Amino acid sequence: MTINLPEDVIYMIETLEAAGYEAYAVGGCVRDSCLGRTPDDWDVTTSAMPEQIKATFRHTVDTGIEHGTVTVLCYHGDGTMGAYEVTTYRIDGNYADGRHPDHVEFTPSLTEDLKRRDFTINAMAYNCRCGLVDKFDGMGDLQRKVIRCVGVPAERFDEDALRILRAVRFSAQLGFEIEAETAAAIREKAPNLARISKERVYTEITKLICSARHERIEAVKALGMTPYIGEGFGVTEPADVSLPEIPTEKRCLRYAVLFRHALPETAAAFLKSLKADNDTIRGTVTLAPMLEAELPEDRYELKCIIGRMGREFFEDLLALKEELGQDVSVVRAIYVDVTAKEEPIFLKDLALTGSDLVKAGVTPGPKVGDLLEAMLEAVRRDPAKNAAEELEKLYL
Ligand code: ATP
Ligand code: MG
Repeated sequence: MTINLPEDVIYMIETLEAAGYEAYAVGGCVRDSCLGRTPDDWDVTTSAMPEQIKATFRHTVDTGIEHGTVTVLCYHGDGTMGAYEVTTYRIDGNYADGRHPDHVEFTPSLTEDLKRRDFTINAMAYNCRCGLVDKFDGMGDLQRKVIRCVGVPAERFDEDALRILRAVRFSAQLGFEIEAETAAAIREKAPNLARISKERVYTEITKLICSARHERIEAVKALGMTPYIGEGFGVTEPADVSLPEIPTEKRCLRYAVLFRHALPETAAAFLKSLKADNDTIRGTVTLAPMLEAELPEDRYELKCIIGRMGREFFEDLLALKEELGQDVSVVRAIYVDVTAKEEPIFLKDLALTGSDLVKAGVTPGPKVGDLLEAMLEAVRRDPAKNAAEELEKLYL
């Protein structure tokens, strides 16, 4: 097994080794590399203590120094920079609250560090000198496509309940099954989720539904987690077709799918209970009803909708409706034509601006906005009117 480590990672590992320490790429980046996926980020685990990591590299940030994590910054010749979390081998102490270890203990043993990690596929380390270090048959589980806890699952979920949701999230992202003993422990320990902060629940649910298998949200219910997710989670309904992976920034598209048969208040209450941001709440509540209803096939009405939503959001909506099996060909044809002809849709498309109006003698204030709105309506109906002289003649 050979992994092509990025140059920065090779540099950090070799620098730590030259200083007399051990160092490996570890966790998600090793898992993703073995699967032929491109890792989002690269983490390094090392026998060096945090102070020793800081002494070894010129540019570091104390990210979580009490947990042994230092961020190392690598500056490149072309002006770009890479940031990497370098963490000292550690053993997590007792978890009294089922969320955070009471204390962490540094250890000279890579095996001990791998043992504290959640799943076998996340507990592999790699460097160029030693190759793959895989103490828990993570590679076998990658091949069998299985999510399996390192150690005794029920104990691992008592330590940290977030792992319960991570198991389902990874199963959705990777298309893996959850191994039987791990699944049984999830069922048994689901109530532990009550101790997890809503922000962390939201992050995991979001990653799950933005994955290529959003329908695995049903596993969250089947494994008994419904009461611990958020208010109204029970009414969510995945689409009956599979949907492609999307970046989590576009999460409102997936939340809209899940709540497309629900009342907007229900979707909003759910997202609020998870402390979701306002953009996600607004986007979800706007989109959800549009997924069931048909879009107008009237040019002017479509422009009004696009004007309210923005182009990108509207294009996402069209694509999603197609993925859901709806025929939007007429609407799409209108949209393509409007775009090709550069017909005005937004205030910024108007041939006159607010300051043009003021210069022409309109009193600054609400009057300006009202006039602009009136002009926008007119040019959406008739693009030929979108010329400064024409608008001045009509409105001033
Ligand atoms: P992704 O970045 O896609 O979420 P990842 O596996 O890299 O996946 P991170 O949260 O970045 O996940 O964590 C990095 C590594 O730290 C994991 O691969 C795992 O080894 C370990 N880890 C993270 N969270 C936990 C946890 N709650 N319990 C035990 N180990 C964990
Ligand atoms: Mg990661």
